[in-house]
Amino acid sequence: MTKYIFVTGGVTSSLGKGIISASLAKLLQSRGFSVTIQKFDPYINVDPGTLNPYEHGECYVTDDGAETDLDLGYYERFLNSPVSQANNVTTGRIYQTVIQNEREGKYLGKTVQVIPHITDEIRRRVMLLGQNDNFDIVITELGGTVGDIESLPYLEAVRQMRWDLGTDNCLVIHLTLLPYLEAAKELKTKPTQHSVKELQNAGIQPDILVCRTDHDITNNIRRKLALFCNVEISSVIEAITADSVYVVPLLMLKEKLDRVVINKLKLRERKEPDLKNWKEFLGRLKNPTNEITIGLIGKYIELKDAYKSIYESFLLAGAANECEVNVIPIHSESLYEDTVAQKFSELDGILVAPGFGERGFEGKITAVKYARENKLPFFGICLGMQTAVVEYARNVLGLVGANSTEMNPKTPHKVIDLMDEQKQIKELGGTMRLGSYPCTIKEKTKAFEAYNSTSILERHRHRYELNNSFRKDLEKAGMLCTGINPQTDLVEIVELKDHPWFVASQFHPEYKSSVEEPHPLFVSFIQACIINKN
Ligand code: GLN
Repeated sequence: MTKYIFVTGGVTSSLGKGIISASLAKLLQSRGFSVTIQKFDPYINVDPGTLNPYEHGECYVTDDGAETDLDLGYYERFLNSPVSQANNVTTGRIYQTVIQNEREGKYLGKTVQVIPHITDEIRRRVMLLGQNDNFDIVITELGGTVGDIESLPYLEAVRQMRWDLGTDNCLVIHLTLLPYLEAAKELKTKPTQHSVKELQNAGIQPDILVCRTDHDITNNIRRKLALFCNVEISSVIEAITADSVYVVPLLMLKEKLDRVVINKLKLRERKEPDLKNWKEFLGRLKNPTNEITIGLIGKYIELKDAYKSIYESFLLAGAANECEVNVIPIHSESLYEDTVAQKFSELDGILVAPGFGERGFEGKITAVKYARENKLPFFGICLGMQTAVVEYARNVLGLVGANSTEMNPKTPHKVIDLMDEQKQIKELGGTMRLGSYPCTIKEKTKAFEAYNSTSILERHRHRYELNNSFRKDLEKAGMLCTGINPQTDLVEIVELKDHPWFVASQFHPEYKSSVEEPHPLFVSFIQACIINKN
């Protein structure tokens, strides 16, 4: 029978529920259990796909085409196993289902209410994962902070599930903050006591407290927390602030979080945790023999979370190369022909990021032109590839005013154009070309060198594509289309013939990087940057 673990957050947001959930999952996975992680987000958007990156950071995309919270990226990077639409549920989606059921008459004339209809739908979505995929353990992270109005239906659903499943099959981990008062030179437990009271008000007694702190917690504090929050002393777990999120599984191992969970859920031991690969990765991460600096050209750069998976992909592929990768965010709106050389003078390579809309597009063109002409390693992702095509059309093919119709619908040369299937679509939510599609790679190309395979699957999130009527001219002039979708003939990868490393993809490789499998294109790009530097 599947066991269920809920992770709630107290005191403040941003304590790292996603990382704690992913770390616990990693430890349990390394002990031979099959685990998945799910996130509930208490906002009313049906998914984060329509959210501006400034609001909520990057929108992560799964194989099955779900647009999800960026925490799901950590779940995949840690566990190296794919998540799906079922792993991310918002309040909007819950309500959408319930309202749809009501319209279909499924409630047989009953008054539709938060309890039981919304809570039942929450419960159904938790159980679904365990039932469909036969996981030993489902970890469900509840977004938001205990005490928020939006969280109440979720807490009620958790309370009911604990009552139904029993404490051997269902447990609650509460992640909380122990603030340090400089004046008193003391860690304070009162905010935690209050947030546990808040949980108890909702009828939930947490089983385990994970305490985020910047200072070691003493036995005295552990005892105090245990006594006043009504948990066992061994269930008070320290989560000290770490210099890297990838260290957290080891910190949790040291604190025996996995052990406590196994005991409480009466799970039968399978094996000792096997973290050999993980530790090797950390070893390479902490002892780099090389160092490079890469410019990340985008327009949401003020917010690191907007390009989370790209930063993490650099870190993971950097470790694979024993190379420290310094990523310098550069605002595309700040790039002009006369100053770009100076701006890029310290860089060993550039990545032009995905994006939407006209703002900052011309600066991206400037960046690509510089990289192309100066043989600086260049990696383009999605809009980054489209930019490379527009730049080549304008400056090599001589097509004056060439553009993507996203930026200028009246361009005389529509080298990037809306995909046919998109032309009738009016709604914005969930309507892009999303998720995993195959791509065939030509041999003797940079892409082939990286993947060492002619057939790959990669994830997508776009509406526009390379206009195939320009393909022949582009190829003749030296921009090769080296990755093609075998069914639709859509161009997935372009590269330049006479350039040390100029590769751009319509798909998003950053969504398929994990600790165990850093992405081949990122690995290969970093190698090119190292060569360029030396
Ligand atoms: N705006 C472009 C498109 O929709 C690129 C999207 C992206 O970079 N994710 O095709």
